[in-house]
Amino acid sequence: MRGHVYLVGAGPGDPELLTLKALRILGLADVVLHDELVSPAVLALIRPAAHVLNVGKRCDLKRVCQEQINALMVAYAAAGQTVVRLKGGDPMIFGRAEEEITALRAAGIRFEVVPGITAALGAAAAAQVPLTQRQVSTALLFVTYSRASGQPPLNWRGLVASGATIVIYMPGSEYGRISAELCAAGLNAGTPCVIVSRASRSNQTMLAATLEQLPGIAALPAPTLLIIGSVAGLVAGFVADSVTRSADIRAREEIPLVQA
Ligand code: SAH
Repeated sequence: MRGHVYLVGAGPGDPELLTLKALRILGLADVVLHDELVSPAVLALIRPAAHVLNVGKRCDLKRVCQEQINALMVAYAAAGQTVVRLKGGDPMIFGRAEEEITALRAAGIRFEVVPGITAALGAAAAAQVPLTQRQVSTALLFVTYSRASGQPPLNWRGLVASGATIVIYMPGSEYGRISAELCAAGLNAGTPCVIVSRASRSNQTMLAATLEQLPGIAALPAPTLLIIGSVAGLVAGFVADSVTRSADIRAREEIPLVQA
């Protein structure tokens, strides 16, 4: 009897943001292959008897390459195991799901995708900013700043012209370059931005600034993402001319955003 693979979204970190289905499947797993980004609080919900393997990358060094991950999923499932491929956020967003799905189909392994809350939504909730706003921002772009080698540069001009709120995944510490590229593409230097670090986790922090202030900002702890657009100006305490920082957001009620 062949096993089954579940591609499961672990959400941005807070275990309460898992779907009920993800929680149930974590309790059924024989084998879990997880990314580095999956939070310890979510890993703690895996069936204790399950074999848990971290196949993520750390400091840009992939412990296990994508082909090996595909092969592991196929081999365990072919041996009749219930395999959970656990990914941060949603498995279908910037998660190389297409390669895994292709490998599973090619091997004739049954699989199911269980969505998760993607980082952009976790970050918007943390920052208390809507990603769309009637009349002002009626479209939303999820962009990755980290690109596979050989890909052409991002067409920022086209993205900016759309007027959409831009959410940048994997910005690294490239705030200066991102700012320069967006300004060169025609985005107003005064456009509000929020950097959200470790959204939904107990140690989450964030910082709000205008596009032209981004280059002067020290990188926040990974994982981070950037929300750029007028909606970011709705962050509590945002002041157009100064960089605004949050303390630990768990203590958000007591410690609102303060100016640096
Ligand atoms: N599939 C994931 C994205 C994987 S790419 C999802 O849907 O969220 C990894 C990037 O996601 C990180 O570099 C960071 O930009 C973002 N990210 C993931 N978790 C995050 C978190 N808790 N807080 C802020 N950004 C996060």
